[in-house]
Amino acid sequence: MTESVPGKAGRTALIVEDDHAVCDLLQRIVESQGYSTVVCATGASAQASFTASFPHLVLMDWMLPDMDGLELSKTFRASERGKYLTILMISGKDSPEDIATAIAAGVNYFMAKPVERKVLNIWLSAAAQQVEDYRQREEDDLALAKIQEELEENNLQLEEALGRANAMAMEAEQAYIEINQIFKTVAGGILLVDTHSNLLRCNESFLQMAGMTREKVHDQKCYEIFHSCLCNTEACPLARIRKGEKRIESEIEKVGPDGRTFYYSIISTPFKGPSGDLLGVVEHITDVTERVKAEKALAESEHCYKELSLVDELTKLFNKRYFNTQLQLEVERANRHGHPLSLLLMDIDNFKHHNDTYGHADGDRVLARLGQVVTESLRVNDVPCRYGGEEFTIILPETSGEQATVVAERIRARFAGEIFQPTPQETVHKTISIGVTQYRMGESGQNLLERADQNMYEAKQGGKNRYVLK
Ligand code: GH3
Ligand code: MG
Ligand code: MG
Repeated sequence: MTESVPGKAGRTALIVEDDHAVCDLLQRIVESQGYSTVVCATGASAQASFTASFPHLVLMDWMLPDMDGLELSKTFRASERGKYLTILMISGKDSPEDIATAIAAGVNYFMAKPVERKVLNIWLSAAAQQVEDYRQREEDDLALAKIQEELEENNLQLEEALGRANAMAMEAEQAYIEINQIFKTVAGGILLVDTHSNLLRCNESFLQMAGMTREKVHDQKCYEIFHSCLCNTEACPLARIRKGEKRIESEIEKVGPDGRTFYYSIISTPFKGPSGDLLGVVEHITDVTERVKAEKALAESEHCYKELSLVDELTKLFNKRYFNTQLQLEVERANRHGHPLSLLLMDIDNFKHHNDTYGHADGDRVLARLGQVVTESLRVNDVPCRYGGEEFTIILPETSGEQATVVAERIRARFAGEIFQPTPQETVHKTISIGVTQYRMGESGQNLLERADQNMYEAKQGGKNRYVLK
């Protein structure tokens, strides 16, 4: 196999001929027509050369040393490039049957040997157009195949993008369905407001709270739809969210369209876009009217209860109101039965100083402890009361003044023994002064009380931490 220089326009001719003289002649003529040539002397080398040199024109002998030229022609035709090939057979066999057989084997042109330059030139000229057409067609087919490949690649990418878009659309649809579901089923009103106070979206519950129809709220600002005491103030949730707050809980009172007062709890959170930029605020409004009304009623009843209560909360002793009633009863009873009745009035010594030094709360602890000491020191029929501030009274039925001093002394001593620790470093003792007196038949309760007070005053005067009986 020999090769020559490349021909014009990149056309290549494969010459398959075992006769050297013929081969040289063919090569010269073909090259003079502008082809580059590849020359093979056997069918096997021609087959190898065919795939390597991409010839557009094949000139072949019928009778080759290793194979029949017709077989070679069929093999070329059956190959991938076979349809772009022009085959010219040059043979000594030139009967009409031979020519027909050759044409049937894929040969395009047939020329009888011996080779005559002029005849070969004629055949080459005849084949030139076909060679050119086939070459062009091959180029076009290649370009088309490339375009097709690109199209297929594009299609694939488009299909993938479409798949992704479909998946996103489905996700968005699902999210939309879920949001709708939440808007419908959530307890209370939900609304989305943009940063300019425009209502973007709301549920039916919110419309009911606002007493509005969906048509009416269209194109309205949130403060026009659901005005509250927060609107146009620094407490406005949207204003606070815009300043960077993450969650705001507010409670408002609002008079409804029917004139009734409602209470609403509002939870406001930022409503952000995919890139984290603030788009507005989501507000979840819950009607807490029942709860607030119940709380108010409870507070009121607690107040009433305190009013009606007979017991002082701090000391757990009876209060002054109860004392007054009870003293009246006991005075009447003492008069009726002629039984003795005594009264104690006690007052904490230097209590103001304790309050001033350790604080009012610690003073309260002292009062509460005295309450305990008094309770623990009495019989069931005795009536211990917190008369007011740091003054205490004890009604002692069926008790003489002398017997009452025993009680007074017991309380005084016990209380004086109590240790208070108003600060971690300090311990203090507190004392009381007690006025003791016995009821005198016929006198009023007020009289009895005044005498007890006088005695207590004398105990103070006498140096405190003691009782005085008169
Ligand atoms: P004296 O020994 O003469 O009784 O002097 P005092 O400081 O105890 O008497 P004063 O009447 O000057 O002060 C009584 C103090 O009791 C003043 C008041 O703040 C305090 N007090 C009254 N009620 C309460 C209370 O409920 N809790 C507390 N912590 N202090 C009370
Ligand atoms: Mg006092
Ligand atoms: Mg006092």
